[in-house]
Amino acid sequence: MCDEEDCEGCPSWILDILYWLPPIILILLVVLTYYPLVETDKLITQHHYLTGTILNILYHFFLFMYLITLILSVLTNPGDSRKITKSIDIENGIIGEKRFCKVCNIYKPNRAHHCSICKRCVLKMDHHCPWISNCVGFFNYKYFILFLIYSFLISATAATIVIISFFMPQNDEISPLIIIGSVIAMIIGFSFVITLIPFIAYHLALLAENMTTIEDSKTKKDNEKHIWDLGLKNNLKQVLGENYLLWFLPTYISVKGDGFNFEHR
Ligand SMILES: [Zn+2]
Ligand SMILES: [Zn+2]
Repeated sequence: MCDEEDCEGCPSWILDILYWLPPIILILLVVLTYYPLVETDKLITQHHYLTGTILNILYHFFLFMYLITLILSVLTNPGDSRKITKSIDIENGIIGEKRFCKVCNIYKPNRAHHCSICKRCVLKMDHHCPWISNCVGFFNYKYFILFLIYSFLISATAATIVIISFFMPQNDEISPLIIIGSVIAMIIGFSFVITLIPFIAYHLALLAENMTTIEDSKTKKDNEKHIWDLGLKNNLKQVLGENYLLWFLPTYISVKGDGFNFEHR
């Protein structure tokens, strides 16, 4: 924060760069560690063909899913007030206390909240995530959950490749740069695994109860009854979709509802 009295704020291009920096860093991390990890995996394959090949397939699959779910989380509109045009219908459909947003000049649909960073109301808002430079809301919540899961899996796989390579007979042809790159990849992988475990556990617990981060804090604070809890199986279906086969794929065609009206108890 700037304390100068005559400060006019940072130029908008600096703010733009800062806003988009986190997802760019997340993409650069996998791009820069790709070559060292593939070369390290080749070393494993030379001595243990099956282990090296399985790790290679897993690494590329998780990498692809990581990038796709990250891009979809960043680029998908979570469901915002600019699309809320039928405010009178929303007003009639609201269950419980009616909440009006003075900034967007609309009645907030159930589970929607105003995001002060995005400057709009977001349908079924979970939280604003700086890592994806976007709000997590109704239309990108599944992508976000899958992004967390695939971030964990790619990190764990990268760390495993490097650790297993330590037990292989060393090859003089491998350059020191690849060794340094793979050790850095292992450290980053470990850091992500440790950081992500509590975060994923928390979001899976919310998913199981059909609750958003905002609702969780509100329910605890006000001791409110959570009316959206439909039982474990239905709660998971609300976000991941009806078809079990598509639960771990980034499809939202299977997600239930429209973001305005929700099944409740
Ligand atoms: Zn609003
Ligand atoms: Zn936001």
